Amino acid sequence: MPDRFVVLVYKRVRESHTGWVVLRDKGISAPIRGFSSTSFAKMMTYFSDALRAHEDAGAVIERNDRPGIKSMPLGPEFTELLRNDPVAAIRSMTVEAICVQESNPPRQAVLRVGHDSMADAFGDKLYIRRRFSVQVECPGCGRWVRVFDNILECIRCIKDNKPVRLTVELLNDVNWACTPTKEVLALKHDKFFFPRAWNNGRVWVKREDLKSRYEQFVKEKEEACSIVATKG
Ligand SMILES: [Zn+2]
Repeated sequence: MPDRFVVLVYKRVRESHTGWVVLRDKGISAPIRGFSSTSFAKMMTYFSDALRAHEDAGAVIERNDRPGIKSMPLGPEFTELLRNDPVAAIRSMTVEAICVQESNPPRQAVLRVGHDSMADAFGDKLYIRRRFSVQVECPGCGRWVRVFDNILECIRCIKDNKPVRLTVELLNDVNWACTPTKEVLALKHDKFFFPRAWNNGRVWVKREDLKSRYEQFVKEKEEACSIVATKG
């Protein structure tokens, strides 16, 4: 449990959000920035900026527009996604979950971090390394495999008669591609090759660990959504 928290305090009137991002250290709050009549995406971008500036801090959301709304700490997985990949975090709170009415498209969130740091974030998509434009590291065996039509198929690490077959998005950064976490978990392999920071620098992650990590992420995301979606 972190000692310090970046706290987003806000109220919502229709689609505009007014409040503060503050740093709370042992119960004492110091303002980082205020905002008024701001879109949801922009407000969350401020929140993300502050989290990146205070890397050791946890994240808390507080709505102050109605009595009885408590301080809601965000879980570690979702906090890291918000910190490292605000666009993905905001998208997951607005489009996929459809839990927030948002008149401005979430892509308004300014992307200020590169794919190198985003690759370390855990979420609905996992980053895989890429080289020579069309080769990616197979999560099943760690070998370089060529991608055809956005599909990675590796016949060198067949498990239970099931080859690795994943939808791969080749990002506009030549070093990276990404694949849906759900598809990885649908494979029969016992472990997956993901040498990422979220895996504590290890080369392999066991499928049970990846599965429980993803379930934790989905739970935290739903909680974060339910906080922001509470009717104002
Ligand atoms: Zn493979």
